[in-house]
Amino acid sequence: MTPLPRTTDLFVIGGGPAGLAAAIAARRRGLVVTLADCSVPPIDKACGEGIMPDGLAAARSLGFDLDEAQGHPFRGIRFCDRDSAVEAAFPNGHGLGMRRTALHQMMVNLAIDAGVRLAWGVRVTGITAEGVIADDRLVRARWIAGADGGHSPVRRWAGLDACHHESRRFGFRRHYRVAPWSQYMEIHWGDRCQLYVTPVADDEVCVVLISRDQHLRLEDALPGFPAVERRLAAANASNLQRGGVTASRRLKAVCRGNVALVGDASGSVDAITGEGLCLLFQQAVALAGALEAGDLAPYQAAHRRIGRRPEFMADLMLLLDRTGGLRSRAFRALAGRPSLFAGMLAMHVGEISTTKFLTNGLALGWRMLTL
Ligand SMILES: Cc1cc2nc3c(=O)[nH]c(=O)nc-3n(C[C@H](O)[C@H](O)[C@H](O)COP(=O)(O)OP(=O)(O)OC[C@H]3O[C@@H](n4cnc5c(N)ncnc54)[C@H](O)[C@@H]3O)c2cc1C
Repeated sequence: MTPLPRTTDLFVIGGGPAGLAAAIAARRRGLVVTLADCSVPPIDKACGEGIMPDGLAAARSLGFDLDEAQGHPFRGIRFCDRDSAVEAAFPNGHGLGMRRTALHQMMVNLAIDAGVRLAWGVRVTGITAEGVIADDRLVRARWIAGADGGHSPVRRWAGLDACHHESRRFGFRRHYRVAPWSQYMEIHWGDRCQLYVTPVADDEVCVVLISRDQHLRLEDALPGFPAVERRLAAANASNLQRGGVTASRRLKAVCRGNVALVGDASGSVDAITGEGLCLLFQQAVALAGALEAGDLAPYQAAHRRIGRRPEFMADLMLLLDRTGGLRSRAFRALAGRPSLFAGMLAMHVGEISTTKFLTNGLALGWRMLTL
């Protein structure tokens, strides 16, 4: 662990993926960067551990190639419910399932190589106009990045808590020792909950349950998903269940004065989209550019632009979660015309425009009406 300096150009609060990505990107632009996190790596977290092709591309633009890391590629997404299933390959490469701890350790190593000053096991307790209070003393900082996750104290301290929209669901994750049975990341839709399965190694899958019920656990929900239950029946769970909150949160602003928020601290989309990591990689690149230019306004605009598509897709997924009748009709329509699902997926990973997506949506609507 590096001792805290007296001064730094950028102080990053939080050393999850967002903090590390922001620190690496800023360091590559020549800023002197200090990062503090109250935990010690490798930091684990409840996560579906799926990175979409646009997320892999965003990571590459930060200078790291996740394909070279430990992980398991998947070729697309498969939606299943009780009556139907539909799948499509990504139009632009593959996604990657990667254990959260492996991703974190890889990013820590990259931050060290980039020359970021890392302080683990250090809790930040406040910010002032001059800098950051950590370990009971002030570290002077020209800029402060709040990358301290969904519950972000920095967001509160900076007065950035106001949001346009907020809703929460609960996720529980567990790994099972079993060879992935599909080349797709599978999303199984049940009654007001989803189970999604990501291949993360040749002999391991990550299973996540997401619902609005904070008391619902994987073992309670599995009987509602007999196809997955059968696959997991003989498999050993490789760890205990880990829970987390997944929020759909759209903030009114993500910057104030010399403070900028990044990652889940800056708002988030529901985990069902699998876009959390992609968003924060893209935000980190945009933030570094703004910091180098000495003006946070372009970051505010870029943050809005980056979030628009995933927010739209999250709204759509949450609508399908709430309305079982609409969902089963939509799934039957998609299963009958898989090219419509391929179009949805292409929009999801940023490969087609919203206009083309809406044309696709009209075709889907028509098919649903004529089923
Ligand atoms: C159930 C679930 C499934 C998900 N599945 C996927 C998926 O499949 N694909 C995907 O891309 N995304 C997924 N996500 C979203 C993704 O996990 C998040 O977007 C991502 O973890 C956010 O990273 P972060 O660095 O912003 O926050 P975090 O990972 O929460 O990191 C915040 C860090 O800040 C530190 N911290 C907090 N307060 C302080 C303080 N005062 N001082 C010092 N340090 C502090 C914490 O210790 C922590 O390490 C999922 C999320 C959930 C909940």
